[in-house]
Amino acid sequence: MSNSKKILITGGAGFIGSAVIRYIIEQTVHQVINIDKLTYAANLQALAEVSDNKRYFFEKIDICNRPELDRIFQQYRPDAVMHLAAESHVDCSINHPHVFIETNIVGTYTLLEAYRCYFDTLTTSAKNNFCFLHVSTDEVYGELQNSNHLFTESTSYAPNSPYSASKASSDHLVRSWYKTYDLPTIITHSTNNYGPFQHTEKLIPSVISNALAGKPILIYGNGRQIRDWIYVEDHAKALYSVLINGKIGETYNIGANNESTNIVLVEKLCKILDELAPQYKNGIIKYRDLIQFVSDRPGHDYRYAIDSSKIKKELGWQPQEEFDSGLKKTVIAYLNSKQIIG
Ligand code: NAD
Repeated sequence: MSNSKKILITGGAGFIGSAVIRYIIEQTVHQVINIDKLTYAANLQALAEVSDNKRYFFEKIDICNRPELDRIFQQYRPDAVMHLAAESHVDCSINHPHVFIETNIVGTYTLLEAYRCYFDTLTTSAKNNFCFLHVSTDEVYGELQNSNHLFTESTSYAPNSPYSASKASSDHLVRSWYKTYDLPTIITHSTNNYGPFQHTEKLIPSVISNALAGKPILIYGNGRQIRDWIYVEDHAKALYSVLINGKIGETYNIGANNESTNIVLVEKLCKILDELAPQYKNGIIKYRDLIQFVSDRPGHDYRYAIDSSKIKKELGWQPQEEFDSGLKKTVIAYLNSKQIIG
């Protein structure tokens, strides 16, 4: 892909999609067509630095809307698709599963069908160079109990929440459209992302915003659940690398070997805030005084951890950001630009 390509990105106004778009517009010569429904999770501020670029196009579209998807494919005639649009918050999926089924499953199906129709109209050479990258999560693998195990690309699916079940279903659809219709697709599974512009419903921004407001920092259960974290810009680069160099029909796991229990992570964030923003509210002495434990989330997975040796070995991708420096950068970004939304 040395020449400029047109890359259609779904969900580009979200946390990860916006990082992917910033990376592609700023570091490559490609054009981006961002289609996004602009749900509560979208944040156009995350695209402010690229929105005036001549290589960037935005259309407010629901991926469940087939006529609009057909129009987009015909009008822009993309050379690649990166599919990130999704409902992404596990807690919401427990309370309102319907919208997860609608967007993550029906939306992915609708997009695949629009893609299939469009793909038929391409020349052989365009077909040979096309890639539909489906961005998924390690949560489709369920949870790990044994502390030595890691999720690999051949780990069996065992989703435990409506969110992860809906993502697992979308993965199966993508795989079967590849096998049945011979459509070029690749699937990635990444671990938890962190970084600037994430919605406050997610753990790290919620800890930062509650701490700064002097509100309780709530932790599910005993806080011993283990998550494996990747800086969002490292994930964005990994996705681009897979799009350009990944092998059609393959799956790639993406992680950065930053395993941490939730309680250790929250304490790290409190320490960074103690150092950078010691303007305490409500009579506390340190931010950690705000930590409170609440009853566990139903179906809460104990541990996720990813083996990313395949993408490192086959595509030469490596995460760049250290966990401690990435967390500090994230806190600074939130403090500097009041990026907290929600
Ligand atoms: P996000 O919730 O921040 O953003 C999702 C975006 O999709 C929003 O801009 C929203 O407006 C858009 N959207 C939702 N429904 C839509 C619809 N019907 N039509 C068009 N647009 C719609 O999510 P994120 O954290 O950026 O995650 C992006 C993708 O990466 C998702 O597919 C998610 O499952 C996956 N993922 C996320 C993480 C993570 O840690 N955040 C980890 C692994 C995989």
